[in-house]
Amino acid sequence: MPRIVVVGSVNMDLVVTTPRFAAPGETLLGGSFQTFPGGKGANQAVAAARLGAEVTFIGCVGRDPWGAELRELLASEQIDVAHLLSRGGERTGVAVITVDAAGQNSIIVASGANMALTTRDVEAAREAIEQADALLMQLESPLPAVQRAAEIARQHDVPVILNAAPAQRLPAALLECVDVLIVNEWESRVVSNLHDPALSQAQVASHLCSLSGGHVVVTLGRDGAVHCDGQTTTRRPAPRVDVIDTTAAGDAFAGAWTVGWCEGLSIEQTLALANAAGAAAVSRRGAIPSLPRRSEVESLLSAAKSRPK
Ligand code: ADP
Repeated sequence: MPRIVVVGSVNMDLVVTTPRFAAPGETLLGGSFQTFPGGKGANQAVAAARLGAEVTFIGCVGRDPWGAELRELLASEQIDVAHLLSRGGERTGVAVITVDAAGQNSIIVASGANMALTTRDVEAAREAIEQADALLMQLESPLPAVQRAAEIARQHDVPVILNAAPAQRLPAALLECVDVLIVNEWESRVVSNLHDPALSQAQVASHLCSLSGGHVVVTLGRDGAVHCDGQTTTRRPAPRVDVIDTTAAGDAFAGAWTVGWCEGLSIEQTLALANAAGAAAVSRRGAIPSLPRRSEVESLLSAAKSRPK
C-alpha cells in the first residue's frame, strides 16, 4: 500500500439551483439546496485512498459543524486525519455554488480555515511527510506551507507531486522541489507564462520540464494527458465515456497518478490509470461521490484494451 501525504484544502460546497443567475441587487427564489464535501485537497486524498493508498491529510478546518462533518467524511474513507487541524476563530472553507437551468455554474470560494495552515503546522506533521512514499499538494493552501512541506519531503527523498491548481506563477524555489508537476492546459500556460497559441502542449510541457527539472504531466480533458520528462514525451488518450459532470476530473487524475507513481508503474501505465480515474469521475455527478474505486478503474482499463483499434 503506498503511503501518500496530502497537504491541501477541504471545503463544504453549498449548492443552490436557480432558474438563472441573479443580477446585482436582485433576490431570486431558487430551487433545491444541497451541501457536498469538496476542496481539491480532500478530493485528491479520497481519490488516492479509494485506489488503495494509505493517505494522511494535512490541512485545516474551523471549529464548526461543517469542519466536524468533513473530518468524519475523510476518516470514513480511511484517511488519517490526525493532522487535520480544527482552528478556533476560523470558519471551515466553503464554496458557494449556484447552478442555473442550463447547468452552468458560478462559484465563489471563501477559503477560511484553509488559509490558516502555517509552516509550523506542517513542521508538526514532519514525521508523516518523512515516512511517505509521496507528497501530493495543490495551490488552495498558503504557499509558505506548501513550500515548507516540499522542502521537508525533498530533504528525505520523498517525491513531491504538485497539482498547480488554481493556476498561478510559481516561485523558482518551489518548482525546484517538485518531482512531478500536474497541470491542465490552462494551468500549463499560466505556470509557464507561454500564451502563444501556436505552441503545442508538448512544447509547453517541455518548457515546464526545463523550469522544474522534473516530470510534467499536462491533462487534456477528453484527449487524455501528455507526460514529459525533458527527453521523452508520452501521450495517452482517455477512455471514452459519457460525460455527465466534469467536476473533480483533475483531482481524480492527480490522486490516481500519485498512486501509480508510488506503485512503480511505468509512465504509460500510470497515465492509463490516471486517465481511467479521470474518465470515471466525469461519468458521474459530483466531486467525491464521482471518485472511482480500484475495481472500476481496472474494468475501464481492460475495456479500453479489448476495444478494437
Ligand atoms: P481539469 O478537470 O483539472 O480541468 P481535465 O479537464 O484535463 O482537467 O481532466 C483531467 C482528466 O480527466 C483528463 O486528463 C482525462 O483523463 C479525464 N477526463 C476529463 N474529461 C474527460 C472526458 N470528456 N472523457 C474522458 N476523460 C476525461
